[in-house]
Amino acid sequence: MHEFDLIRQIEPFAADHKDVKVGIGDDAAVTSSYAHKDVISCVDTICEGIHFKRSTLHLSDIGYKALAVNLSDIAAMGGMPRYYIVSLAMSPDWQEEEILEIYRGMNALAQHYGIILIGGDTVSSQNGLMVSVTVLGEIEKNRSLLRSSAREGDIVFVSGTLGDSRGGLELLLSRESAVPRTEQENALVGIHQRPEPQIALGQLLKESGCRIALNDISDGLSSETWELAEASNVCICLEEENIPVSEDATNLFGKQKGYEYALNGGEDFQLVGTVAKTHWPTIQSAAKEKGIRLSAIGSVEQEGSPQVLMQKNGERTVIKRAGYRHQ
Ligand code: ADP
Ligand code: MG
Repeated sequence: MHEFDLIRQIEPFAADHKDVKVGIGDDAAVTSSYAHKDVISCVDTICEGIHFKRSTLHLSDIGYKALAVNLSDIAAMGGMPRYYIVSLAMSPDWQEEEILEIYRGMNALAQHYGIILIGGDTVSSQNGLMVSVTVLGEIEKNRSLLRSSAREGDIVFVSGTLGDSRGGLELLLSRESAVPRTEQENALVGIHQRPEPQIALGQLLKESGCRIALNDISDGLSSETWELAEASNVCICLEEENIPVSEDATNLFGKQKGYEYALNGGEDFQLVGTVAKTHWPTIQSAAKEKGIRLSAIGSVEQEGSPQVLMQKNGERTVIKRAGYRHQ
C-alpha cells in the first residue's frame, strides 16, 4: 500500500470547518484559538495483540475505541473535544480497505461529537497495527476538573455501571464468535467494543460550578480511585455494596466476580469523582434528568496521606492498586 494513496483516501474524513485554517495536506494543521479558552490535549495508543485482537474488535471498533479512549480523558477534565490527529504504524499484512474501515469507525464517533480530523502520520511496522490518536479540546479558562480537588467530607460518586467491559472481553475471549450470544451477552460485548465516552456528564459537572475532583475509569475503579487519593492527598473509603454492577454482569458472572471486574477490570470509561456532600443531591438529580446514573459509592475521610479503603460487612481493608493489566 502506498502512503500517499492512503492519505488521499483518508482525506475525505476531514470535514471542512471554519476554525480549521489548514487541515490535511500541509506539514501541520492550523486551527483558530480563542483567548477565553484553555486547550486540553491528550494522546492514547492502542496496539494489536495488547489492547485488541482481530477476534475481539471489528475493524470499525478499533477506530471507534482509539478515539473513544481519548474522548473519555477530555470528559474527565470537563472539556469539549474539537480536533483529532491519528498516527498509524502498520505491518504489511494490513490492507488499505481495512485501514479505511478503521477510519469509518473513528469518523462515526467523531461526527457524533462534531470533532474534526486535522492530520496524522503513517509509518510501517514489522509487526501488527498501532493506532495512536491525539485529541485537542477546549474549556473555559481555569475551569478544568482536576484529580487534585477532593477534600475531606466529599461524597465519592461514579457514573453508570462498572465491570461490563471486562465481562464483555471475557465473553469474547472465552468463546468462538460463531456461537450465538444472548441479548445480555451482547450488551456486555457491545460495551467492550464501543464504550460511550462521558462527555455530556463532564460538561454537566463543569457547568455546575461546584468544586469537583474527576477521573475517568480506564483501568478499573481501584486504580482510578487511588489516583484521586494520591493527587488530592486524601483517604477515600468505598463501600462495596454501593458499587454499581449491572444486572447483566451479575447474572452472567455472579455478584462477587461482578465486583472484581468493577474494581480491577478495565475500560469502563465511566467517570469517578468527588463533590461536597451539600452539593451531591443537586448533582445527582441534574444527571438523572439527563438520563445519567450517578451512584454515591463512598466518602473522602481525611486529608493527609493517600489511602483507599473498602468497607464490606462492617470491615475495612486497604484496596490494592490492581488496575487491569493488558495481555
Ligand atoms: P510530513 O512529511 O510533512 O510530516 P506527511 O506526508 O506525513 O507530512 O503527511 C501529509 C499530510 O497528511 C499531513 O497533513 C498529515 O497530517 C496528513 N496525514 C498523514 N498520515 C495521516 C493519517 N494516517 N491520518 C490522517 N492524516 C494523515
Ligand atoms: Mg513536512
